[in-house]
Amino acid sequence: MRLAVSCVFGAFVVALTVTAVIAAKSDKPIGPTLRRLQVGLLIPLIGNMIIIMSGRYFYSLAGYYVYFIGMDIAVYRVLIFTMEYCELNWPIKNLKYFVWGLIAIDGIQYALNPWLHHSFTLQAIKAYGYNYYLNVTYAGQNYHRIICYGIFTIALLLSIYKLVKSPKIYRERYLVMTVTMIMSCLMETFYIFSRTPMDISMTAFGTFGLLAFYQSLYYRPLKVLDRMLGNIASELNESLFFYDVSGKCIWANEPALELTSITNEDYEAAHENVTGIFGDVKGSGESWAVKKTYDDGSSRFYNLEYRLMNDDKGKFTGSFLRIRDNTEEQMEIQREIHDATHDKLTGLYIKEYLYEQIGKTLRSEPGVRYYVIFVDVNNFKIVNDVFGTKFGDLALKKISEWLQRISSPNCVYGRIAGDTFGALMPVDEFDEKYIDECLSNFDVKDGNKEHRLIIHCGIIEVTDHDMDVSVLFDRAHLAISKVKDDYNVHIAYYDDSVRNNVLREQMIASQLNEAIETRQIVPYLQPIVDSSGRVLGAEALARWIHPTEGFMSPAEFIPVFERNGMIADVDLHIWKCSCEILKRWQDKGVDMFISINISPKDFYFMDVPFELINLVNEYGIKPKRLRIEITETALMDDVDNRMKDISRLRSAGFVIEMDDFGSGYSSLNMLQDMPVDVLKIDMGFLRKAEVSQKAEMIIYNIIAMAKDLEIASLTEGVESQYQFEQLSRMGCKLFQGYHFSKPIPIEEFERYCDLKEAS
Ligand code: C2E
Ligand code: CA
Ligand code: CA
Repeated sequence: MRLAVSCVFGAFVVALTVTAVIAAKSDKPIGPTLRRLQVGLLIPLIGNMIIIMSGRYFYSLAGYYVYFIGMDIAVYRVLIFTMEYCELNWPIKNLKYFVWGLIAIDGIQYALNPWLHHSFTLQAIKAYGYNYYLNVTYAGQNYHRIICYGIFTIALLLSIYKLVKSPKIYRERYLVMTVTMIMSCLMETFYIFSRTPMDISMTAFGTFGLLAFYQSLYYRPLKVLDRMLGNIASELNESLFFYDVSGKCIWANEPALELTSITNEDYEAAHENVTGIFGDVKGSGESWAVKKTYDDGSSRFYNLEYRLMNDDKGKFTGSFLRIRDNTEEQMEIQREIHDATHDKLTGLYIKEYLYEQIGKTLRSEPGVRYYVIFVDVNNFKIVNDVFGTKFGDLALKKISEWLQRISSPNCVYGRIAGDTFGALMPVDEFDEKYIDECLSNFDVKDGNKEHRLIIHCGIIEVTDHDMDVSVLFDRAHLAISKVKDDYNVHIAYYDDSVRNNVLREQMIASQLNEAIETRQIVPYLQPIVDSSGRVLGAEALARWIHPTEGFMSPAEFIPVFERNGMIADVDLHIWKCSCEILKRWQDKGVDMFISINISPKDFYFMDVPFELINLVNEYGIKPKRLRIEITETALMDDVDNRMKDISRLRSAGFVIEMDDFGSGYSSLNMLQDMPVDVLKIDMGFLRKAEVSQKAEMIIYNIIAMAKDLEIASLTEGVESQYQFEQLSRMGCKLFQGYHFSKPIPIEEFERYCDLKEAS
């Protein structure tokens, strides 16, 4: 019997030593405390073992001392461990020091026992046939028991407290510990009261140590894990299906059941439904995307993933299916792509994306004949200025809607810039007659505002499908230059003549400086007369006597220089020439004026009033001799600044004439605010009016109105004696036109005046 008990004790000593070493090496936070617990338990266990095994008085006595003092340490360690295990602190402040004090007193009283014998003595007995020393207890030993029980009871109460307070799923963790503690306690008590010959209660404490070791380092609350994983899986917004080894669906989370419209927990049915929706989910590979379109036309996007699961040894343990609804993400991505590639106002492709898409289409359809179409609104700036940007936006939207209407799915179209659009259209889908019809009455209406847009389409047939799309559009744009000023022709094709024009323009532009220096460009003068036919002055009109091209009209070269910005050089040159003439006349005592033309573009390239004031000062001529012709269009570009420029010129003494009156937009409104001195009415635009009576009425009214505003009127384009007489009768004061003379060289003009003078 003694041997058997010794073996058990030995086993505990070994086990506790090993666990102490493992605990010391553990990197878990509870490791050090656990190690101290194991060591703390080892001491009384060894003491207890010595008592049982020795059978001699002296060894037994030593064993008892080790046992009792060790017990103090052990219960203290149990208390400390329990607190850490239960994540609790000392229930009462300074209790720790109190406990230490009690233990210290116990140590002192044992130290005095060999002399006082107040704690215990030994009594030899025979147990199971061997010598055994039983302890006979006195008052001191009772003190020892009280503090041991006291400390142990605190630990036990803490453990029970934690057991009761914890959520159900965590109780297991505390239950095991609490039960072992009660067991140890009962065993000890049993020994004390039963007076059995051998004290083996330390084995219960040993068991406690081993359990504590296991619980602290190895125990994983599977139930808790299980529950946690279950919760996480259910709260995911992904649908999950789990399959066992045989392929049977053993579990599906909430979203999965919802997705498959299953209300009970029939997982097999859920699997059947998911197959119904997505097809063979187990045979489609690891992960794939699916787009589902529903009956109501809405679409949803899903990401599916099917994976096999293996255990540590690579043995197949089952599989799972994940389905993620990523519709929102997809929508967001598509929205972003759409915003980056589409124009906000019209919803059409932006230029870069349009060119890209056209390039792609051309390369993917090498056999199809295509037109590239450039759509341009004439004078869109004026639409914006006169009717407001809201109206302008509406006009652009109407154009984009029209483009959409005439385009089939084989076309690609978009907005290139402000008022220009572009399209790629198969040649055999292009209905020229229909498009021309649409463009000839393109009306935009917003409340009481209504305006007919003048829209031009430049077209080029794509002969090389690899050609740079921007070059194609540049050429289609150029084609429009052929018809830009013709409001009745809306469609123009790019051909060699356009190309040659471009080359010619480049040639003209390259020769300008030389032409000015060598005086190839000169002003011709066209007389301006009063109602008696007397010449009062002239309009200076530019002519280019080109050494190889011959005589060039300004209609040919002025627009070129207006486009490339060199117009300011031409005008400045003509103004200088005009000043030279005026200076000569002034010196001769001839009292005539010269009207010069100002291009709308001049204002972009120079400070027009500054230049003109400089010129008259330089030549020493009176500003009123130099009359200034400005068109409405020039004024419209930037009304506020033009108004300032005109005021500056007028206060410097210049006479301002409004040129081409009546051919623009809001002539009459304009007059109210614009401080001009002379209205130049162009007969040219009235010549078109079918009924000459109507033309007469209009002119009559303009002249009358000008008179009311105290503005003189000048009619240009007078071609017959009849017109001259009519206009005189209507009250017109000044006249210009072929009826009197064409624009002629200066010498000829001077001779013409002398002739007049003479006659
Ligand atoms: P504009 O200022 O309206 O000039 C009047 C145009 O009408 C001139 O054409 C003139 O030759 C023409 N004309 C005069 N009387 C008659 C007539 O009885 N019947 C007809 N059918 N036509 C008549 P031109 O000289 O070819 O000038 C064309 C336009 O070129 C001018 O129109 C003006 O806008 C511009 N221009 C001419 N010279 C210059 C210049 O030095 N600088 C600028 N910026 N523009 C100029
Ligand atoms: Ca003019
Ligand atoms: Ca004119």
